[in-house]
Amino acid sequence: MKYGVHPKSFVYFGIPGEVLAGGIIALSAAIFLFICFRRFQLLRQGLSDPRMDSVVDRLKGLITDGFLQKRQPRYPVAGILHIVIFWGFLILSLRSIQLLAESLSSGKDFIILSGISGDIYGFLKDLAELATLAACIFAIYRRAVVQPKRFQGSRQFEAYLVLGLISFLMITDLLFNGSGISLGIYKGQVQPISSMVSVLLTDISKPGLQSLHNAAFWLHLISFLLLLNLLPLSKHFHIITALPNVFFRKQIRGELKPPRWDIQDLDELDRVGVSSVSDFTWKNMLDFFSCTECGRCTDHCPANAVGRNLSPKKITMALRDQAYKENPILGDSDHNQKLTDAVTSEELWACTTCGSCEEQCPVFIEHVDKIIDMRRDRVMMKNDFPPELIQMFRNIEIFGDPWGNGMARRKEWIENLEINDVGQGDAVDIVYWVGCSGAFDSRYAGVARSLAGLMKKAGVNFGTLGKLERCCGDFARRTGNEYLFQAMAKENITLLNRLGVKKIVVSCPHGYNTLKNEYPRFGGKFEVVHHSRFLWELIEAGSLKLSKTVNKKIAYHDSCYLGRYNGEYEAPRRILESIPGVTLVEADRNREKGFCCGAGGGYMWLVETGQRVNETRAGEIAAAGPDQVATACPFCLTMLDEGMAAHEQSEYKPEVLDLTEIIEKAL
Ligand code: SF4
Ligand code: SF4
Repeated sequence: MKYGVHPKSFVYFGIPGEVLAGGIIALSAAIFLFICFRRFQLLRQGLSDPRMDSVVDRLKGLITDGFLQKRQPRYPVAGILHIVIFWGFLILSLRSIQLLAESLSSGKDFIILSGISGDIYGFLKDLAELATLAACIFAIYRRAVVQPKRFQGSRQFEAYLVLGLISFLMITDLLFNGSGISLGIYKGQVQPISSMVSVLLTDISKPGLQSLHNAAFWLHLISFLLLLNLLPLSKHFHIITALPNVFFRKQIRGELKPPRWDIQDLDELDRVGVSSVSDFTWKNMLDFFSCTECGRCTDHCPANAVGRNLSPKKITMALRDQAYKENPILGDSDHNQKLTDAVTSEELWACTTCGSCEEQCPVFIEHVDKIIDMRRDRVMMKNDFPPELIQMFRNIEIFGDPWGNGMARRKEWIENLEINDVGQGDAVDIVYWVGCSGAFDSRYAGVARSLAGLMKKAGVNFGTLGKLERCCGDFARRTGNEYLFQAMAKENITLLNRLGVKKIVVSCPHGYNTLKNEYPRFGGKFEVVHHSRFLWELIEAGSLKLSKTVNKKIAYHDSCYLGRYNGEYEAPRRILESIPGVTLVEADRNREKGFCCGAGGGYMWLVETGQRVNETRAGEIAAAGPDQVATACPFCLTMLDEGMAAHEQSEYKPEVLDLTEIIEKAL
């Protein structure tokens, strides 16, 4: 028998090694392609969703968030483990592909990387194998012993199986290489870990080494092919689909997906919203394939934190399972369970649409669009929604505001200020969008007056829409009433376009997000600025001089629709830091991790039972020890004001103000 030769050169059970390898590879490739084809059919049956705009930005995102895994280290231990396993697996996949190719090539070995690049690769691969093996063992230990809460409900067996298989791939390759070095196959290559393995094998005879070399080769080959086939059958499909999912992510975070991308007119649709798997888009399906079941979304969900029956991870898994049941790889579709049973109304109506789940998801899964799509179905097709919303819908439809005050009273907030309505052709620079809260909420009307006063002081040439402004429609849209939202949007856009409005200042982040991100799709294209950014620009330009000392510790609470959805974290903080005497303090959860006030997604009108989100948040801010809390949203102001009065975490109840009110005191 000849030693120091490639395992494919032997005959196994009467079958030449090359033929055996070819058979195994062909069989598993056929199974893999069939499974992927079935999964791909699910993608193909999804509704349209155009995602090829902004290709350069998408590629940048793919590099930073896909390959460099920027979001992973937000959980330092798990993040570093994941990055090591991800890169180790990528490096090792090249090695496994090389082994597959070697086993199929006739004659001499087939080398993908050779010469100096092969040597560098061999060196890196060796180190990557050790690092990946260590990371896999530690990940198994964490799951089994530490048991982080966010993994509850995830498929643990699949996780252990895949981590075990990846570890096995590393071990078999090290044994293959180590025995190869001992047999004199790999000469002159620097492979430190394989060389150490080879040293451990010095006592083994040549026949024994060759048997080990052969066994390691076949075990590596089979386990790689087994792993490959397991991927599309398990949550580890994300290994294949996560990078495309990152590439195809939403480009305008604050814009809700329309009911259909291909049919704009709601009257042409026979149903609105998602009631079955066939109503999902291909991107929704790709989301399902890509969920890693890491639980980061649920870990950051405020509704889940206060004990409501809502877990964005569970919803994603339930929808994926439903899609798979109705479209199995083999056998008949199972339609016994309806999608409406897979995700209950209770879960759907628990969401505040705060976007925290999406912010944390490492593979950029879009939870809120799906929740709203299912709300649309329940509101518009099934008449199944919380009764508290009926009055809000009616008020918006009839009176143009959620409280039902009516357009005639829209200018009462002005009191004795002199503010002009903008008329057609008026030469105003800015339209101040007062919003329903500014017009009708007695507390927030004061903020609207403060803002108008500040703009006057800074010499801004502005006007309002007066009695013609109507609700922006945010709450209608986020509670699933797309008809009502579109009616409001179209009326407002027609008015703004007729008046030739170019720039709008909005103080409510919900209105700001709607006008800026959602109105363009309906023909409303104007510059939209939030009052925090606008005021900061006035301060920076010297038009507002903050000269009075305000000796206060102030905590800024991030509004979800200003921060997470629109990335505005800096302007409010810069304003506060520029006031003499102010010390900015931060609550534990701030900026992109900021905890919702509890009002979004219709919760200004929905009844909360059990622990309240606003009280939880108020207690958390109070724990930072501020004298005052600054907000930049009418709903945050109301919710935190109430929350401060009621929270039990501390006796300490700081005053809650809007940024404009704090600026006024510093002038
Ligand atoms: S949007 Fe917020 S409340 Fe809704 S599921 Fe996501 S994290 Fe939870
Ligand atoms: S949706 Fe995203 S964050 Fe949530 S479990 Fe899946 S991968 Fe993790």
